[in-house]
Amino acid sequence: MTWLLTDLMYEPLLLDTFGRTATDLRISVTDRCNLRCVYCLPEKVTDWLKRSDLLLPEEFRRLAKIAATLGVTQARITGGEPLLRPDLPQIVEAVREGFEDAGVEPDLALTTNGIGLDRVIDSLVDAGLQRLNVSIDSLDPVRFAELSRRKRSSDVLRGLDAVDASTLPGTVKLNTVVVDQQSLAEIPALVTFALERGYQWRAIEFMPIGPLAASFSSRPTAHDIQRVLRESFELTDVITAASEPARRWSVAPSDTHPGGIIGVIASMTSPFCASCTRTRLSADGKIYSCLFSVDSVDLHTPMRAGASDEELAELWKDAMWAKPAGHQLLAPVPQSYSMSKIGG
Ligand code: SAM
Repeated sequence: MTWLLTDLMYEPLLLDTFGRTATDLRISVTDRCNLRCVYCLPEKVTDWLKRSDLLLPEEFRRLAKIAATLGVTQARITGGEPLLRPDLPQIVEAVREGFEDAGVEPDLALTTNGIGLDRVIDSLVDAGLQRLNVSIDSLDPVRFAELSRRKRSSDVLRGLDAVDASTLPGTVKLNTVVVDQQSLAEIPALVTFALERGYQWRAIEFMPIGPLAASFSSRPTAHDIQRVLRESFELTDVITAASEPARRWSVAPSDTHPGGIIGVIASMTSPFCASCTRTRLSADGKIYSCLFSVDSVDLHTPMRAGASDEELAELWKDAMWAKPAGHQLLAPVPQSYSMSKIGG
């Protein structure tokens, strides 16, 4: 068996010792955010990355090309809040070009809170963006401000209006983290809103990472979310690929909406680690093999010191080779750790 594993390491793929292959690249472009969601960031953050440490568009292009040569076929840009980078359209273009340099037509998506989307959606689409996930935890402005500590819900809605008017070719998904009983009560309104607009809706089960991690056991689970969904909508299972993190349903049309697709990402009660295809690049150029990993492999320093593409590819492969079997086997992540840091 040992010789077989060692042989596999020479494959031009991002393999790990459990036989998984990473084909889905999550790229964080900043750790900063204009919201302070109570479950994600504290009000005061003092340890932001230095601006000089953030990767530049041409560096994203080079790393995207290396990823594509290692078998990666899709990329999702995230953060922090990616729209805070004024050069985001250039980054999207650079990532697309990096894949194209390797002869791969990428599936390119963005995860954002939507604030400011109205100003850049057209440039992002021109740059090659295909799909969009917008995080929204409440449609009620007061509740939105309580959860995000910022009165910005009208900015998110303005962003969504601009998306509807744009030529974005692919799906729009609305993502909602279900943090408490009030989140559960708001599910029907959020689902109806999403389906009316032709979006898919995803509930995200709360994960023990960030400021509220210690209260994890008292938070709603995917089971609670499904109960509310079944009480409010007529659902039919949609068969999904094993690597698809969400359990999905088709919702029958009703008087209030035209029907559509919804899902629940049960990262904790039904983890998809065994079929995880993700590799993560942080805004300062570090590779994380898992969202919950505290360990990373730095590509930025060697890249700026003149490492070749082949040397960077080997470092990336080493980082992924060490991917743990599952996030629940990892030690609890430190309190200061947040999804904003390595890209949610
Ligand atoms: N700023 C962008 C956004 O709002 O989508 C991208 C980054 S944000 C960290 C990505 C996603 O992670 C958001 O949907 C956010 O709600 C989610 N998230 C952050 N902390 C979480 C936690 N403890 N449990 C579940 N989801 C979380």
